[in-house]
Amino acid sequence: YFVNPSQMNEQYVTIVGDDVNHIAKVMRFRSGDEIICCNGQGRDVRGVIEEIQPNAVRVRILREEGPNRELPVQVTIAQGLVKGDKMEVVIQKGTELGAFSFCAFTSMRTVVKLDEKKERRRLERWQKIAKEAAEQSHRSHVPIIENVLTWRELLASASRFHYALFAYEKEETVTLHRVLAEAAPGSKILIVIGPEGGFDEKEVAEAEAAGFLCVSLGRRILRAETAPLYALSCVSYQFEQ
Ligand code: SAM
Repeated sequence: YFVNPSQMNEQYVTIVGDDVNHIAKVMRFRSGDEIICCNGQGRDVRGVIEEIQPNAVRVRILREEGPNRELPVQVTIAQGLVKGDKMEVVIQKGTELGAFSFCAFTSMRTVVKLDEKKERRRLERWQKIAKEAAEQSHRSHVPIIENVLTWRELLASASRFHYALFAYEKEETVTLHRVLAEAAPGSKILIVIGPEGGFDEKEVAEAEAAGFLCVSLGRRILRAETAPLYALSCVSYQFEQ
């Protein structure tokens, strides 16, 4: 179970919210049963349930637990907003493949329109999907879902990363493989993927001027939701051999 870091101290974990019902009614755990809790920041512990109350479960920590399942680099996927449930596919599968965080952005060819209310609901839903996918993959980190960025905000974010990469199907010389081969463990890598209609040439020039490096994801044109999964698979291949 994932908890906020503030719910886990040296000796105890306090589980609140929907997970209480899951523990008591779905899993039918009882006092004395052992469970694993993660604080979402890389700390996994095995603990024994001491008390199940209607609104909280108290767990005494027995020991630190688990292999590290995180990629040795932090990959942020910036995905041009895509239609329907494609964004959910990117977040679910991208979480399984080890992404550190996700942000959607709008650009010239974005078709999807989100008002403030819709955006808030989508962000909540995406965060829930990331949490569930992280649990299913036994990850100790739940990917962060950032707010939807404007094109300008996306361009300004390049400086926060060691590598700011811009997936562009017309790039002929620089491949993602080549860049990853040079990246050191611990690097923060941003990979920008376009929406269904891709990028306008003006946007490509703006991205390069903002410090992004155009990279190819191979010779075939991938669908907008396939491209980030390919990129994350390349990262796993490079760093987990
Ligand atoms: N029209 C299809 C769709 O509806 O999904 C293809 C869209 S493709 C243009 C969307 C984005 O995927 C591009 O903007 C680019 O970021 C990325 N992409 C796809 N294939 C790529 C490749 N071979 N190399 C680099 N980037 C690629």
